[in-house]
Amino acid sequence: MDEKLIKEAMFNVGGKPAESLVGILDGKKYTNEFLIAKKLDLTINQTRNILYKLSEQGMVSSTRKKDKKKGWYTYSWKIEELRALEFLRGILDKRIEQLQNQIKNRETVGYYSCTKCNIEFNEENALIQDFTCPECESILERSDNTNVIKAFKRNFEELEKKLGIINKDIEEEKTRHQKQKDRAVKKAVKFKKEERMRKSRETREKKKKLLKKEERKKAREEKKKEPKSKSKPKKASKKDSSKKKTKKTSKKK
Ligand SMILES: [Zn+2]
Repeated sequence: MDEKLIKEAMFNVGGKPAESLVGILDGKKYTNEFLIAKKLDLTINQTRNILYKLSEQGMVSSTRKKDKKKGWYTYSWKIEELRALEFLRGILDKRIEQLQNQIKNRETVGYYSCTKCNIEFNEENALIQDFTCPECESILERSDNTNVIKAFKRNFEELEKKLGIINKDIEEEKTRHQKQKDRAVKKAVKFKKEERMRKSRETREKKKKLLKKEERKKAREEKKKEPKSKSKPKKASKKDSSKKKTKKTSKKK
């Protein structure tokens, strides 16, 4: 974690106490809010207010756990490094744009100043003042912008350099997130595959059991049939003989 940059990002949202969160909070594991409050030396409500402000920007995230005895939720927090860096990049982009406009302005618009009173007017306002200082009435002199432009350009270069570092950090964070995602997907795919294999193994075993059960049932039925088939022909022969008898008797009639 680039602590210096993350601190700057946090400071822009929640001031000094938010900056102090770096070092207390982690980018990986969650920290209990009561522990955070203790380390910041603030009340739990003050701590939560800062964390909520940061969480609105997505710069911190939380997980909650229900206290089984008391029945309320306790939150734990961690820093979302990527979002913090992106937030800082947004601020820097704006500053760089402002600076570019200032440089362009100094290069195209003339400025006039009173060196005695140390005040400066742009061309338009100098014209309104009739090129005379409103304080001491000396004649305004056209300012030499070269040093101002030089200073702006130096500042611009510094910010561009910083932006480069932030962009590199952001890219690194993104690849880290992507790798994490890939690992999670791989794990899920593996789990699904194993689950599928387990299920097919189970159904195979169930089928086997069912088949065995049926076989046993058949075998039992076969056994039951056997004694019946021995007694049946006896009964049938009796019936047959009686039928034959009736037939015979009918013939006699
Ligand atoms: Zn003056």
